[in-house]
Amino acid sequence: MTPTPQDLAGAVLTVDLAAVRDNWFILSRRAGPARCGAAVKGDAYGLGVGPVARALWQAGCRSYFVARPAEGAELRAILPQAEIYVLDGLFAGQAAYYAAHDLRPALISLAEAEAWAAYGKARGVPPPCALHADTGINRLGFPPDELHALLANGPLLAALNVSLLMSHLACADEPGHAMNARQRDAFAALRRRLPGVPASLANSSGIFLGSSYTYDLTRPGLALYGGNPTPDAPNPMQPVVSLEARILQVKTIRPGETVGYGGSWQAARQTRVAILGAGYRDGVPRALSSRGAQGPAHVAIAGQRCPVIGRVSMDVMAIDVTDLPAESAAVGAPAEIFGRHISIDEAANWAGTISYELLTRLGSRYARHYTGQESEPGA
Ligand SMILES: *Cc1c(COP(=O)(O)O)cnc(C)c1O
Repeated sequence: MTPTPQDLAGAVLTVDLAAVRDNWFILSRRAGPARCGAAVKGDAYGLGVGPVARALWQAGCRSYFVARPAEGAELRAILPQAEIYVLDGLFAGQAAYYAAHDLRPALISLAEAEAWAAYGKARGVPPPCALHADTGINRLGFPPDELHALLANGPLLAALNVSLLMSHLACADEPGHAMNARQRDAFAALRRRLPGVPASLANSSGIFLGSSYTYDLTRPGLALYGGNPTPDAPNPMQPVVSLEARILQVKTIRPGETVGYGGSWQAARQTRVAILGAGYRDGVPRALSSRGAQGPAHVAIAGQRCPVIGRVSMDVMAIDVTDLPAESAAVGAPAEIFGRHISIDEAANWAGTISYELLTRLGSRYARHYTGQESEPGA
């Protein structure tokens, strides 16, 4: 028998597309009557833009946000009818590329607005675009003075086919932060200057700030992929991703012996150690190495938590399975690094980062496995 990729992998990443669709429905209901879009930048946060975007389209999602123009072109080949916005804005000299792939730049400056308007004039029909206003995050977006100059420039505005006014919240995951209401009020004032243009402010966490933040279209990313958009409350989303590593070896060591590079972890008792086939090349952060004072990271075997011991290395990592029944910690058994028992937010927190970074830095060496595909209509 020819082995499957899973048979030969040290670790398997499973992406549950049914959970992606469920999460889109949860967010749609939560923000209704606003339409729910999707941020699928960065290869859908590392999960694979092809399967993820097709699942979202089947759920009913029609508006998508990518970062780079090339991500937009890749998505266009997957979803011929979607509305695709490019958050990076309009790259100089690339208007024809955007138009060829039917991409809508989220314009961030007067110079970009002039370039897109000029391209539209040359073509005869101005192609759609978004205006991305900076309402205080001071990241991408029109600075207020440039946006006011555009709004005061009737001919330039008339030469643009603006299909969306958008802005981005800096502190949406902190519901009590004063910046949220300030940005919302600045956005509302801009919106009154562009009557009839659909508006979009909320990312995943923004949807949970309440109905005054959701406007016409939302742009969730992380929550679709199972991250918690309400960090101070239980996660309302379904888990989507799990990473399971194979146990390669189990050994027993004596008290006083150490595990891994640098001998950084020392056994206080006779210890059963399981070596897992996943390391930092697979996207397991080296920062998950045991650290003493802050308490160790854990993985789950048959639903039971086992501490990570010693340093995570390139290909393997070690865990303490002394307290597990021998049969559950057997060679070949799977150990969950994150998934149903250990959330992506918890694992990221142990590594001193956020679930966004954990997902987008996952390597490519494990076998990828998609579940919950809906069959194509008529197929
Ligand atoms: C990434 C991004 C989003 C999605 O953010 P999440 O926090 O993942 O929901 C929405 N809007 C903009 C402008 C973004 O850059």
